[in-house]
Parts: sequence; C-alpha cells; structure tokens
Amino acid sequence: MPIRMLPMHVVNQIAAGEVVERPASVVKELIENALDAGATHVTVDLMDGGLESIRVRDDGDGIVSDELPLAIAPHATSKVETAEDLDGIATMGFRGEALASIGSVSRLEVVSRPRDAAAGAKIVADHGDIGSVEAAASPPGTCMTVGRLFARVPARRKFLRTPRAETGRVRRVIRDLAAAHPGVHFVMTSDGVTRLELPAHRTLRDRLVAILGRELADSLIEIEAVRDGVSVTGVVGTPETARPASTHQIICLNGRPIADRAIKQALREAYRGLIEPSRHPVAALFIGVDPSRVDVNVHPAKTEVRLRDERLIFVVIRDAAREALKQHDLVPTMPLPEVTMSPQPRQLFGSGLTATERSVAPTPPPQTSHVASVPVDGVRPEVRWMQVHDMWLLVEDEHGVVVVDQHALHERVLFEQVLERIGESPLPAQQLMVPVAVDVNSDAAEVVTALTPLARRLGLDIAPLGPSTLAVHAAPVLLVERRVDIASFVEDLVDRAVAMQGADDETALRDVVDMMACKAAVKAGDRLSDREIRDLLEQREAIERSTNCPHGRPTSMRLTLDDLERHFGRS
Ligand code: ADP
Ligand code: MG
Repeated sequence: MPIRMLPMHVVNQIAAGEVVERPASVVKELIENALDAGATHVTVDLMDGGLESIRVRDDGDGIVSDELPLAIAPHATSKVETAEDLDGIATMGFRGEALASIGSVSRLEVVSRPRDAAAGAKIVADHGDIGSVEAAASPPGTCMTVGRLFARVPARRKFLRTPRAETGRVRRVIRDLAAAHPGVHFVMTSDGVTRLELPAHRTLRDRLVAILGRELADSLIEIEAVRDGVSVTGVVGTPETARPASTHQIICLNGRPIADRAIKQALREAYRGLIEPSRHPVAALFIGVDPSRVDVNVHPAKTEVRLRDERLIFVVIRDAAREALKQHDLVPTMPLPEVTMSPQPRQLFGSGLTATERSVAPTPPPQTSHVASVPVDGVRPEVRWMQVHDMWLLVEDEHGVVVVDQHALHERVLFEQVLERIGESPLPAQQLMVPVAVDVNSDAAEVVTALTPLARRLGLDIAPLGPSTLAVHAAPVLLVERRVDIASFVEDLVDRAVAMQGADDETALRDVVDMMACKAAVKAGDRLSDREIRDLLEQREAIERSTNCPHGRPTSMRLTLDDLERHFGRS
C-alpha cells in the first residue's frame, strides 16, 4: 500500500480509542467540561447504561453559537494557548480532543446558551459528520447528548460490560469528581430512576459522608498536612472500616481524580499492622501541589499523572495518615442491636438501689474469672480489670468497658518492644547448656550462611552439625524465658527465610520479629498473674498501635457507656 495521510474522521476515531473507552469515560470528559465552565449544577442521565444515550446538562458559562463548530473540532480548546501553558494547567481539560473524539464514535448533540445570550443554538456531530449551527431553545448552560455510542465501532462495543456494570462505573466517576467539588450539585439518573443525588455541600466532610456512606460518619478521621509545597487534606477511615477492595478510596490531585499506585501504597504503609494485609483502608485524599510540578499530559484520559516529587508526596501522605491514626482513639466499639423502649420506672426494680448505686454496685464474678483485688478502703484503682476464661481481659475506661484479647495484645507489645530494641543492638542472647539440634530440608551450611546476618541480630548462634542438621548454641533470652521451643522456632525461621527470599531486609525482619512475638506471647488459656495483667495493660497505654496485633487483627473492643445506657433504656 502507498503511504497516505489518514482522513480527519479516521484520525479522530483513533484518538477516540484512547479517550473514550466506555460510557464512564464519556461522562468523565463531559462533567470535566461542565466544571471548567463553572457549573454549580450538573445532571447526568443514562439510558441502558449509556449504550442507548448519555446526557450531561450543566448551568455553566455556555458556548457562543459561533464557536460551536470549534468546540467539536479536534485540537480546539479555550483552555491553553501556548506550550508554556501546559506547565501550569489549572483546568480539567486542555487537550481539546474530547468532544471531537466523542463525536467521531457516536451521535453527539451540543445545545448551549451563554448566560447573556438571547437564545440558544445547537450543532450535531454524527460519527464524524458535522452539521451546521441551528437555533435551539435552551436554558443558560450546556446540554450534551451522546447517542449510539460505538454503534460503528463493534470492536469497542464488544469490550463493554452489562448496562448495570457500566452504570456502576459511571456512578463511580461522578462520585470521585463530586468529592473534589463539594459545592457543586450532582444528580444522576439511570433509565429514569434517580441513582445519586448530591446537593451542594457546605463542607468537604459533609460531601464525603454523603458519598462514602452515612454509616461511616463517625469513623472518618480528618487528616491535614503541608510540607515542602505539598498539601494534603481529607479523611481516612478507622481500621475496622477497611474494605476487601479499594472501592472506598478517592484520591484527587489538584482537583483531578487520579489512580496512583504509589499513593495507595503510602496508605497501605500508614495502616501497616492495623488492618489485615488483604484489606484496603477507606480514604478520600485531596493533594495539592503547584501545577508546574505535575505533568498531567501523559495519559489521554488524564487519569494518570507524572509527579515530579513522587517520593515526597508518598512520605507526606503516609506520615499524615499515620499521625491522624495515632491521635485517634482506635478501639472499635461493639455495636449493640438497636432497641426501642421507654426508660424503666425506678420503682419496678426490686433491689431498692438508685440507678447510680446500681451502676457502681459490683457484680459477683463468674466462677472461671480472675478478679483483681479491689482495695478495701473503697478507693477505686486506676483501672477495675478482670481476666475471664483465661483468654480475655475486661478493662474499665472512661468511655465504657474494653474487652482485650490477651494473646493479640501481648503479641503486639512484644513485637513493638523487640523491633525497638533490635534497631539499637542485637537482642540479648542466652548460651544453651546443651546445644539444640534442628533438622533442615536443605544444605545446613548454606542455610547458616544465608541466615547469619539476621541470626546475629536476633541473638541466635547457629552452626552446621551435619549435612542437613544445625546446632543452636545460643538463643534470644526472650524466647528462652518464655519457654519457647527453640528447635521449632529455628525450623520456622528457616522456612520463612526461604519464603522471604528477595524481600527487603526491613520486611524480612518484621516478619521474623512477628513470628517471635507470636511464639513468645501469652496464649489463650494461660492464667495470668495480677502483675502480668497490670504490666500488659500498662504497655497497652504506652505503645503505638496497641489496638491491633501485628497482622492487623484487633486486640480490643469497647462497649461504650452510651450504648449500654441506650440498650438498657436508661438514656
Ligand atoms: P478541552 O476540554 O480539552 O478544551 P473539549 O473537546 O473537551 O476540550 O472541549 C472543547 C472546548 O469546548 C472547551 O475548551 C470549551 O471551550 C468548550 N466546552 C466544552 N464543553 C463545554 C461546556 N459544558 N460548557 C462550556 N464550554 C464547553
Ligand atoms: Mg474537555
């Protein structure tokens, strides 16, 4: 075939392949245009998941009738003028290709009227055929209607999911843009039914609660930080609200929703040890940086950006989220079923005690419980704790009663203590009177070589004893004192070392320390002495992240006084 220039409508269709992937991408481009035009009210109507039609109406500045043909022409934009402008983009659009692309793979009708124009006008682009400008009735603002999307691009249509799934994607696009623009009223309907209605919100927090779900209202912790020209505001969810997928994460950079793996990773770091690794924290983050430090012109749909200071943004977000979590009381509350009853009249109680008296009268402990002695002089101790079923500690605090999993808490305490100590010097080692022999499934000499740096830090002295046997001459004092089986510890250590090959030192160390903490921690079923319990509870106050064990499972749960009062009809 000879070389020739492609006709313009084919060029546009190729561009459309990058910008317009599915109904959600059309909606995204059209809403971005509405926002750029200063709209305060945006309505999106879908028919059949957008396959039949998509309509986006706004009350923005409108387009003067003379400029309608330009609006739908490729590389025509009112938002940048010179190449230098690309270094400081403050609008959502700038490439001037969205409308041209959409009009090349659908029937696009644009009806618009600037606020001060006497009447409106319209233009149609039907699969690349541009009609002429005609007068049309229109309220101030713009209405874009996209019909027969991909009717002539069957390859693209094949990649679309069910109308339901496409509607879901559209909803998410609107949600993310709405999060970045809390003052704009958004409505979405699908086949005539309202699916989303977000009135203009006064505060970002109100908007986020409306978007993420009212049930999360009390679980969203505000975060705020500014450092080296990077600002971040928004909310992060308490650990127990984390989700199996990252559906409840909204990340916006300079008002633009983006998908950025490094930022998701920063969040993951902040929650390390507070949630199970397979879960994703709830978060809505709004990052601001000088536009000249971001290149948004790396992806036609502008959902990916290139950041000049990626590492800095990572650190700012991680630290801001960490700090917010640290400041917040993270003990989850135990939900009680809602009850509706009127408060009980006092005289119905047989005990003759007043409500206040009853609330402090001690209840006899069940047989299996182990109760700390209450001082006889009637002075209440700092906390009135109790071990039940040799497994749980019940602790009173100012908000109510906290149930603590003794193993999980002790595991977290040991983990933090060992990590802190090991950062300074190797753990104290204890020489074993009789070396312990450990069989390994591989060449003992190789295992010893591979483990030596780590073993030294842990206070572990190992040497080959036979071709596949190791001798342990010294072990960490912590493990010896806690009567941990040293052979099984070393076997596990070898297994892990194999599994963790390639992991960075820090991750490998945390993994091994976690295993040590788990083995050395008190177990469910261990009866604890008063002193052990007191020490453990003191540590609970002293260490960070005491609400979760190193794997992210909770260590404690609170029953609040408010909930108790409500449940028993006393409020
Ligand atoms: P870009 O947004 O990158 O400039 P588009 O193809 O999306 O390119 O839009 C082209 C031009 O049409 C915009 O620059 C703007 O001037 C005008 N326009 C598009 N949509 C609207 C709208 N809803 N309200 C007002 N003007 C609009
Ligand atoms: Mg645009």
